[in-house]
Amino acid sequence: MRIGVLALQGNFREHLAMLAHCGVQGSEVRTVEELAATDGLIIPGGESTTVGKLMARYGLDAAIRERVARGMPVFGTCMGLILIAREIEGSDQPCLGLMDVTVRRNAFGRQVDSFECDLEVAGFAPPPVRAVFIRAPYITRVGENVEVLATFEGRVVLARQKNILGAAFHPELTSDRRIHQFFLDLIAGSR
Ligand code: GLN
Repeated sequence: MRIGVLALQGNFREHLAMLAHCGVQGSEVRTVEELAATDGLIIPGGESTTVGKLMARYGLDAAIRERVARGMPVFGTCMGLILIAREIEGSDQPCLGLMDVTVRRNAFGRQVDSFECDLEVAGFAPPPVRAVFIRAPYITRVGENVEVLATFEGRVVLARQKNILGAAFHPELTSDRRIHQFFLDLIAGSR
């Protein structure tokens, strides 16, 4: 299984380390050619305005849209969730528009810029998932085909639409492999 991690900016190295922890060799994706050599893509945390522009400059936006339309699984975390969303509240910054959700950037506000909490994830056995939020977005609208997998204080922070998974937090920053394993299972077609 070949998993790419978009490596234009942000914390892609932590995702590669988590993939290794799951027994999977990931690869850095910066070009359309590198994307073509993967079966699934993780879009990490980072700065969505910067990465949105860089993706467009390298033609990766169109290439990712085309692959996902043909069934490639994609997993966006934090910035990645912003970039896969169909709509970003109050912004016309470039994004991929893959998942039928609306997101609000930096949505938890200043006082709680960064925090951790325990999340109950639908379908996961205990213990809860420890979630790290860093200037995180959350989902303010979910489309009909979107399944909500976790909420925090009533805010949607983990959701799935078929082969598209989006997390407002950073599952690559803890030692808990379950969210990445969930994505790997999507790729393997076993969910
Ligand atoms: N605040 C960032 C953005 O809006 C996302 C933060 C992150 O990915 N850790 O792009």
